[in-house]
Amino acid sequence: MKLITFRRNGQEYVGVVSPCLTKVTPISAFWLPYTSMNELIEQGSAEELQALSEGAGMDGPAAMPLSEVEILAPIPVPRQDILCLGINYMDHAVESARYKKEDFNGERPYPVYFSKRVNRCTPNGGEIDGHFAIQERLDYEVELGVILSKDARNVTREDAFRYVFGYTIINDVSSRDLQGRHKQFYFAKSLDTFTCMGPWIVTPEELSCPPMLEIQSRVNGELRQNSSTEKLIFDIPYIIEELSAGMTLKAGTIIATGTPSGVGMGFDPPKWMKAGDVVECLIEGIGTLRNMVGC
Ligand code: MG
Repeated sequence: MKLITFRRNGQEYVGVVSPCLTKVTPISAFWLPYTSMNELIEQGSAEELQALSEGAGMDGPAAMPLSEVEILAPIPVPRQDILCLGINYMDHAVESARYKKEDFNGERPYPVYFSKRVNRCTPNGGEIDGHFAIQERLDYEVELGVILSKDARNVTREDAFRYVFGYTIINDVSSRDLQGRHKQFYFAKSLDTFTCMGPWIVTPEELSCPPMLEIQSRVNGELRQNSSTEKLIFDIPYIIEELSAGMTLKAGTIIATGTPSGVGMGFDPPKWMKAGDVVECLIEGIGTLRNMVGC
């Protein structure tokens, strides 16, 4: 099923989207008391989620046209910083080293982990603030987002998918000049509006396990990134096993699994985003996350 957070008449709701993607039913219609996606993830039982999944196709009296609600990011305000993988596709490792004029021997023995601050996620259709007063090299990164269902500590790779609540699309918007200047990802990727997420969370039963999905991005209609999540260097079980061996990953944790090649810095000359550009991130089986760059 597809779960969304939406606003109607000034109030935020969590809802389940109909299979034909035209209607949404608030979860309160299923007698669930949770008022946010975080609450549903943390407190919803397997039986309650099953009931939601079965009810998604029913056109009950509480169903409303999706076109008449404002879709927010599925988790508008994450409880914690987002956990990110750097350089987790080999072809992106190559283009990244080329841009930084670094040698790359083709080996990646360990993942690169970092975090991304987000005060409020930018939803599908929302505007990315280019922050052009403090940076000029605005880039995009389509990524498969993984959301955890329960606290994870010492999880083995065999058990890892039992901890996955669902998947979404993340655009890990990045400033390459801040990234280079400060020798760190954190500031460069944490500017307000730099985490685009959506349009919804897709629960695992709708996708293959492990998810092997086409992943693409387009800027103003031009195909830029085109790969498959099958090509992750460190896959989802690896990430959950390794991180949970040393730190508790709380329910609702969001993991951005890295981006394939074709980001703006990978071109010669680079293709930075500018005001008015429209960036679309697509993942097979999930949908399209579309955002425009503001001034
Ligand atoms: Mg990234």
